[in-house]
Amino acid sequence: MNCRQTIPAHLRYTIEDFNRQFPNDDACFEHLREQRFPDGMAYCATCKGERQHHRVKGRPVYACDECLTQISPMAGTIFEHSSTSLRLWYYAMYLMASTRCGISAKQIQRETGVTYKTAWRMFRQIRSLLSETDMQLEGSAVEIDETYVGGKRKNRHGSRGMRGRDNDEKTPVFGMVERGGKGRVLAYVTPDAKAATLFPIIEEKILPNTIVYSDEYSTYDRLATPKNGYDHRRIKHAQKIYVMGDVHTQTIEGFWSLIKRGIGGVYHSVSRKYLQTYLNEYSFRYNRRDQGNLIFNAFLKRVAERADLPPVVADHERKPLLLEPF
Ligand SMILES: [Zn+2]
Repeated sequence: MNCRQTIPAHLRYTIEDFNRQFPNDDACFEHLREQRFPDGMAYCATCKGERQHHRVKGRPVYACDECLTQISPMAGTIFEHSSTSLRLWYYAMYLMASTRCGISAKQIQRETGVTYKTAWRMFRQIRSLLSETDMQLEGSAVEIDETYVGGKRKNRHGSRGMRGRDNDEKTPVFGMVERGGKGRVLAYVTPDAKAATLFPIIEEKILPNTIVYSDEYSTYDRLATPKNGYDHRRIKHAQKIYVMGDVHTQTIEGFWSLIKRGIGGVYHSVSRKYLQTYLNEYSFRYNRRDQGNLIFNAFLKRVAERADLPPVVADHERKPLLLEPF
């Protein structure tokens, strides 16, 4: 699979574009401020209302025009307690948004000189923004499938079940993808691949009367019961049949190979504890694959959307940002 995709010109956002838009920390800071309080309007906790704010000279904070109470655009965001420069955070998001197969902490360590630990923590924080918690699958058809990631466990539909939580064991992952339409995917780490585990997820995310394609795994038998109201169609992989007209699960399998290649090739291995955040990262990009490099904007938006609101009073002294470009 090719990690470098050809992107139409109008969806391109190159490193030169990045350097032009964000030449230093201050440009990133102003961008963040505009995302969080457009035109300087923000809630003032002292005045108890929306007030105009102005930049405090020489400090990364804004002050209420009326009472001078200070707020920081970084308050409540993933940047809040970080001593890493804001531009480096933006660059890390740019890198993560611009790849298809994933980006390793090693690479940002090499390029920018931060420690591996810092790079790894930044990526973990960025990934924490990327879950699709409110997403509901739409469209007339959905493919579902389960797979196992990492570890050495080979038995896909193993009858022994999941024994213990040995790191050598593969982690079950369940996924659903819209056929046609927006073609979006949802993927979850699950404790096992039993019906009692998968059906609450299926019923929450897939609307009744949807055509659901799966393989012949017995867990999915229940999909055909009238209670669920799904139009269940399955492909018999065991008989070496992979596509029969519309009946296949190749879309979700394509997504599995993307994450397995990414996790195997870029991240080498991912512990069960963090696997969900990697699934979120891959799903987030996959679900916006028609946006080219402009996915970067979606990353930036998430920072503001997932921040704790309203921005809290900046009543403690902050570490000054490094203003040199890295
Ligand atoms: Zn005020």
